[in-house]
Amino acid sequence: MNARPVIAIHGGAGTILRSAMNTETEAGYHAALADILRAGERILADGGSALDAVTEAVRLLEDCPLFNAGHGAVFTAAGTHELDASVMDGATLEAGAISCVTRVKNPVLAARRVLDVSDHVMFTGAGAEAFAEAQGLEFVEPSYFYTEARYQQWLKARGTSGTMLDHDAMTKFAVENDPIDPDRKFGTVGAVALDANGHLAAATSTGGITNKQAGRVGDAPLIGAGCYANDATCAVSTTGTGEMFIRMLAAYDVSAQMEYRGVSLEEASSDVVMEKLPRIEGRGGLVAVDAKGNVVLPFNTEGMYRGFARVGDAPVTAIYR
Ligand code: ASP
Repeated sequence: MNARPVIAIHGGAGTILRSAMNTETEAGYHAALADILRAGERILADGGSALDAVTEAVRLLEDCPLFNAGHGAVFTAAGTHELDASVMDGATLEAGAISCVTRVKNPVLAARRVLDVSDHVMFTGAGAEAFAEAQGLEFVEPSYFYTEARYQQWLKARGTSGTMLDHDAMTKFAVENDPIDPDRKFGTVGAVALDANGHLAAATSTGGITNKQAGRVGDAPLIGAGCYANDATCAVSTTGTGEMFIRMLAAYDVSAQMEYRGVSLEEASSDVVMEKLPRIEGRGGLVAVDAKGNVVLPFNTEGMYRGFARVGDAPVTAIYR
């Protein structure tokens, strides 16, 4: 018998300190995560695919201004928004990804169209936008991605050589003229799911890191780095210092360790997040699920917005360690 369907999501990792958060803001994050988990859970409860559940969960996370993806994305050094997203189907190993789009309202939907209809796996920049337009996806003015909070973060980061993970901004930028520590910045969204047919899927979407150089691509749209799914092992979505996750092929490494070393999801993901990434100063975390319905949400930062929901159960959400 197949395991009970389950969905897990994240809204980014970083220096999320209780002291920098008020009760209302905190409640807002919990409520947003729980609502989005419920939406994913409903799809799975109705017999929907893991692929549909993760696509919809990430679309909702993109629409939510609390998270650094879609509406609410961070600013590049040029004062623009460049969005990246990816999605992978563990049943077929098909994948779709886009990077550096500036006007596609929901980057994850563009990634999903790449998976569904294109012979290619990834499009970038103008080509990605042309593809999305040809697919009839919704476009917005770049100002749609603007949020005052991200703008204020960027104003402080601008002109320095630093970049920052989105959720580190809340602590770093609370202090006037505090120098930007390039190791302390994140905020991506992602989802992984197991459906009633035993299939796995993963999706990841991001605005990147605050004050990133224009044209910079992180791990989020790279299959194997920020997103990976294989029914034989697991589905993984990451968040953190993208450069290190790329160098570590973090998402694929969790799957590969399960496949080649025969270790559990928990052991493989903990090795990647707690041992291997820190060796190259990689900070962040991931959410992952295996075919047995095991869910892990490890991170090596102070916090990670995260949660999971098994069909039939209330969502569980968390922020801090
Ligand atoms: N991993 C993302 C990137 O490097 C950032 C994040 O997770 O916050 O673009």
